[in-house]
Amino acid sequence: AAFLAERLDRIKPSPTIAVTQKARQLKEAGRDVIGLGAGEPDFDTPDNIKEAAIKAIRSGDTKYTNVDGTDALKKAIIAKFKRENGLDYKMDQITVGTGGKQVLFNALVATLNAGDEVIIPAPYWVSYPDIVLLADGKPVIVECGENAKFKLTAEALEAAITPKTKWLILNSPSNPTGAAYSAADLRALADVLLKHPQVHVLTDDMYEHLLYDGFQFATIAQVEPKLYDRTLTMNGVSKAYCMTGWRIGYAGGPAPLIKAIAKMQSQSTSNPSSISQAAAVEALNGPQDFIEKNNAVFKERRDMVVKLLNQAPGLHCHTPEGAFYVYPSCAGAIGKTTPQGKKIATDDDFVTYLLEAEGVAAVQGSAFGLSPYFRISYATSTEALKEACTRIIRACQALK
Ligand code: PLP
Repeated sequence: AAFLAERLDRIKPSPTIAVTQKARQLKEAGRDVIGLGAGEPDFDTPDNIKEAAIKAIRSGDTKYTNVDGTDALKKAIIAKFKRENGLDYKMDQITVGTGGKQVLFNALVATLNAGDEVIIPAPYWVSYPDIVLLADGKPVIVECGENAKFKLTAEALEAAITPKTKWLILNSPSNPTGAAYSAADLRALADVLLKHPQVHVLTDDMYEHLLYDGFQFATIAQVEPKLYDRTLTMNGVSKAYCMTGWRIGYAGGPAPLIKAIAKMQSQSTSNPSSISQAAAVEALNGPQDFIEKNNAVFKERRDMVVKLLNQAPGLHCHTPEGAFYVYPSCAGAIGKTTPQGKKIATDDDFVTYLLEAEGVAAVQGSAFGLSPYFRISYATSTEALKEACTRIIRACQALK
């Protein structure tokens, strides 16, 4: 019999991590590669946050903490939810994990029985379907095309709900499209959800602070207080605070679910790093002004990338509201042939061509459940981005 569990056959390694690794390997082999695959800010963690961590080490905050977070961090999270989202949570409604990814994983494993359905709007963050599959659930993928601005509509939601639906996963601003839901968008979805009390909402607000042109962030438990009791509001410090490596994510939700998440965590990883938790307290309670400064840079890069990509024959790039991704269509390149004589049949072929011909590493849309598109992360230096876009334009011009 096979040694590895069948469970593992249901899932694949993260395709975004795979692209990043491939780009790194090519670089190490001496190739001139620009990696646009990674989903992390190129900015360093602010100094006040680093100092808080150093202080934690020096003062002996180096022991086990509460499994699902220190009191100090939970208090900072409660204050954040109140201040920024108008949401009231008590201490037993807050959980802290090793990244938002662990919170999500724990929540799904703690709630899904075999065959329970989870509605996932596509394009989606690559980990949602695979975590659902690991947890014995059934991902129900709902395609949200560009004509719906890559967002789930009330009609599409209604059509996807069944008596077996346990969760709807929302992600705004979105990875991979950068699309964001306004309060009115969420209002329409809430009206559908109110008719279906079996459906819970896992809202992934990881990119909350990365919004441009004055777009107002909204989260569903605030938009519809009647959904508060069945919503897990997930967030973290990775993206806005440039703390991807520190591994701190958190959520607010109903006390019984929060308790179940802690139970899972108590038998797997226990508490997230005590030092990272101390740093996250400073991130949430400390000065927030650097976020706006970073966003000004992100916005400039977004506008540049959108403008340049729209000059590439065969590509079409929308302007996203937030996050640090664009999700251009490569429909116009499909069916063409490369100078090496290879036919471009899919977005996988297209990104392979970009990497081989021009050393630009992007991620194929098929990884996110909507083709033919590809994802570019503009969380990299403006100079590298400009060069990458020049190369992409050249690659598209070379297609026949
Ligand atoms: N959710 C989305 C949409 C993401 O893009 C990411 C990271 O890429 C995460 C969650 C997980 O973030 P972390 O585990 O670093 O908190």
